[in-house]
Amino acid sequence: MSAKILEGGPIAEQIKAEIMAEIEQMARPPCLVAVMVGDNTGARMYAKMQAKSCEEVGIAYELKEFSDEISEADLLGEVQSLNEDANVDGIILQMPVPEHINARTVQATIAPQKDVDGVNPTNLGRVVMGHPEAAPCTAQAAVRLVEETGIDLYGAEVVVVGHSEIVGKPVALLLLDEFATTSVCHIGTSDAGMLEEHTTRADILIVAAGVPGLIKGNMIKPGVAVIDVGINRVKDPETGKSKTVGDVAFDEAVEVAGIITPVPGGVGPITTAMLLQSTLLAAQA
Ligand code: NAD
Repeated sequence: MSAKILEGGPIAEQIKAEIMAEIEQMARPPCLVAVMVGDNTGARMYAKMQAKSCEEVGIAYELKEFSDEISEADLLGEVQSLNEDANVDGIILQMPVPEHINARTVQATIAPQKDVDGVNPTNLGRVVMGHPEAAPCTAQAAVRLVEETGIDLYGAEVVVVGHSEIVGKPVALLLLDEFATTSVCHIGTSDAGMLEEHTTRADILIVAAGVPGLIKGNMIKPGVAVIDVGINRVKDPETGKSKTVGDVAFDEAVEVAGIITPVPGGVGPITTAMLLQSTLLAAQA
């Protein structure tokens, strides 16, 4: 039997409608500034998407572009002045940055109350202390989809594949707070030949590895809820055109799972909605 497809689009629209209603009550619209260093196609595409979504809900958006020759010290100075600007509510650093810039240093310089992407160490610390609203947008989006499955998390077997700071680790921490029995797998698990042993145990499987088709149909338990965070560009062998796929072999997994999120159209739209929500919360605070 085919799994229920859990689409992110309608949930994102609902979140955006709630944000819009809140913004209508405010004296001035929230303001989000994106900092971009150099010119990267991916970062530019993401910025365009942010600008469009902000416009939809009434958030003022500014893309601050810097030459890829800017020194780290000068960039930190620019971030500091955004921290001090009372008209700026949220700051986001577009990734990737050039090699001579340490992204972690820049992220740590963004004032925690303006860090709407949840990448400052203070906010990651707040996630540990049980503040889901401080988590990175992608982690919040994945957890929102887990909630949408309606599965009782208390004592449920949750397996997270991937342990990055922006997805795997915060997702695991947030679900631990719901008393799920949470395991985190990563490249070490795969290299030890143990990945399947863990994934087949999951009632809820969240995959954020950046490896197209990593999770095959025979690596999951019948009826499991699968949240696929992966976004990978691959070449379609039949058409030769490039397309976006997740980390889960969708065609196989959809025949085994109970619920599955599509790629594109699953976690992605909700991640953007969460960025808008974090900006609203920052402005209200
Ligand atoms: P990352 O590269 O920082 O981390 C990857 C993680 O996967 C690491 O923990 C690594 O050990 C693990 N991993 C890699 N290969 C593995 C394997 N063969 N077996 C098991 N584990 C393996 O990645 P990230 O930034 O967390 O992103 C993960 C994926 O999520 C990417 O595809 C990225 O494009 C996507 N992503 C999606 C959104 C969204 O809005 N949907 C946002 C951010 C990232």
